Parts: sequence; structure tokens; C-alpha cells
Amino acid sequence: MELLQPSSTEEAIGALGNGSRALAGGTELVPLLRDGLVKAETLVHISHVVPRGIEGNRVGAGTTLAELEVDPQIPQVLREACSQAASPQLRSMGTIGGNLLQATRCWYWRLGFDCWLHGGETCFAKDGAHREHAVFGNGQCASAHPSDIAAALVALGATLRTTQRRLAVADLYRLPTTENRDVTTLAPDELILELDVPTPEASTYLKAMDRRKWSFPIVGVAAARFDGEVRLALAGVAPIPWKLDSPAALEDATPLAGTAYKVEIAGALVRRALAEIALTPKSPARAKREP
Ligand SMILES: Cc1cc2nc3c(=O)[nH]c(=O)nc-3n(C[C@H](O)[C@H](O)[C@H](O)COP(=O)(O)OP(=O)(O)OC[C@H]3O[C@@H](n4cnc5c(N)ncnc54)[C@H](O)[C@@H]3O)c2cc1C
Ligand code: SF4
Repeated sequence: MELLQPSSTEEAIGALGNGSRALAGGTELVPLLRDGLVKAETLVHISHVVPRGIEGNRVGAGTTLAELEVDPQIPQVLREACSQAASPQLRSMGTIGGNLLQATRCWYWRLGFDCWLHGGETCFAKDGAHREHAVFGNGQCASAHPSDIAAALVALGATLRTTQRRLAVADLYRLPTTENRDVTTLAPDELILELDVPTPEASTYLKAMDRRKWSFPIVGVAAARFDGEVRLALAGVAPIPWKLDSPAALEDATPLAGTAYKVEIAGALVRRALAEIALTPKSPARAKREP
């Protein structure tokens, strides 16, 4: 395997596609390569060409979760999502760009089963082990999107700048179909460069997980208030980050036999999140950012 160290964005883009992959912190990609779930002859190390750092509302895609979780310029919902993700070691390596593009944690997929998302005929989780799986958008694939950060960004209405376009973070994702089983709309030679993260009046991220640390969301609820109006998005409940139009939309869930409990947890967390952001800012750090 070849490792390229491009010194410009143009050079990086030129090297992408044709079976090569962008490498940022490597916390997701390296295990996938090791397990043969991703194949690449060339890795393109993008750390020197993708912006890193926070300036007002702008966040470089190479910024680590550890940097985001402590920066007072970052809205509370995103800081809380980062601080509850993975482990301190992983957060110091993992970037926000890489986090948005992580693959499903469904064990059938991770163990290389020829399941529907791998191009096969069957979603093995539906009749098999599916406690961590989806309650929305699970018609074909019942996997649950693992990114706390993506849910926070969807609730904030954040946008991305890539090497090809500007788009809402919500539009980075698509439910897989028989014709196209990708869950993102990113092209193989497209890089995420930067995010624009709006400042809400108040926001919060609440996460139900199996352990207090190093655990993906069973359900994550991101809530952000803009002009008195609350926006909600959920992690861990659908193959993509799930925008919840209102608390009542939880009634539209289509849980599997073993995931109905997630709808109850989501309802409880949504109620708590709404109560929390109805209050005045809860920390001096948020007061700076969310007056
Ligand atoms: C044990 C474990 C627990 C975790 N727990 C959580 C959790 O609870 N919540 C949560 O949200 N996340 C969790 N994560 C995910 C973790 O946050 C991500 O692995 C990390 O953020 C990925 O960033 P990276 O820079 O290491 O990406 P990489 O591994 O380098 O890349 C990941 C993917 O993104 C692509 N990529 C990276 N940057 C760009 C870019 N700028 N443009 C285009 N493509 C790009 C790569 O090509 C690759 O496909 C966990 C991970 C592990 C291993
Ligand atoms: S939930 Fe998706 S990834 Fe998991 S077995 Fe079913 S089709 Fe495959």
C-alpha cells in the first residue's frame, strides 16, 4: 500500500478516486482497512491540506473532537456531543470530517457478512441481533448511524464546504436504496474542507449509552433553539442522522421487535432536552457563545 502526503488540496484531489482513500486521523479508516472492509491501494494523507482550527462559526474539517469539546466558540450541543463520543485518546486523533463519514457499527456489516448493505439480498439484523439498530428509515437496512456529532450539526443546521460544493450537513446523508447503497452523497474524489456552524440561543446534547465512556449512542438527542424555535435531530436511530420535525414525529417510528425500547428512550430524552434549553444558559462558556 502506498501513502501519499500531498502538499495542496489540488494535489490531494488529483490523487483521490480510482481506489485510493483519504486518511485523516485514521481511527476509523485504519481498522476498516485492517479488517478488509475497505480496500485501497493508495492512502492520501490529508492532514496538511484540510483546514484545522476554529474561527468564529467556521470549523476546519481537520479539527479534532478534543479541540471542539473545549472551545467556547462552539455551541454547547456540539461540545457535548464531542465530549461524550469515543474516548479521550480517540478524540485527540479523530477529526470532525472523519467522524461524519464513519461507517455503520452493525456487527453483521463489520464482520463482513454478505448483508444487504454489502450488496447482498438480506438484512440479517432484522431477524437476528438488532438491539442497537434503527427505529426510523429501516426499510432495507436497519443500521443505526453512530455519529453523535452529525446529529448535533443537523440540529444546528450546519453547512459544509467541500472541494466541489456547499451543502447542508443533513444533505451529506441519504437513505440507501437498492440502486445505490451509499449512505452519503460525497463523491470519491471530494473532500470536506470546512463547516459553518450557526450559533443558537440555547442547545444541548443528551446521550443514552451502554457505558458512560467509549460507547456509541443507543439514542442521542440534539436540540438547538433559534428565534424561539427548537430543532431536533437524533443519533443511533436510523441509517443516517435523523431530523425529528417535532416530538410528535416519534409516533412515526417503525421499530424492530428489539428496538422499541429506543423510541421510549428517545421520547424521554427529547422531553429533557426541551426542558433544558427552555432554561437560561447553563454555563459561562455557553453564555459567551449562546447569549
Ligand atoms: C472505539 C471507537 C468508539 C467511538 N465512539 C464514538 C461515539 O461514541 N460517537 C461518535 O460520534 N463517534 C465515535 N467514534 C468515531 C470516531 O469519532 C471517528 O473514528 C473519528 O472521528 C474519525 O475521524 P478520523 O480523522 O480518525 O477519520 P479517518 O479514520 O481518517 O477517516 C474516516 C473516513 O472519513 C474519510 N475522511 C476523513 N476526513 C475527510 C475529509 N475531510 N473529506 C473527505 N473524507 C474524509 C476517510 O476517507 C474515511 O473514509 C468512535 C470510534 C471508535 C474507533
Ligand atoms: S442493518 Fe444494514 S448493515 Fe446491518 S445487516 Fe442489515 S443491511 Fe447489513
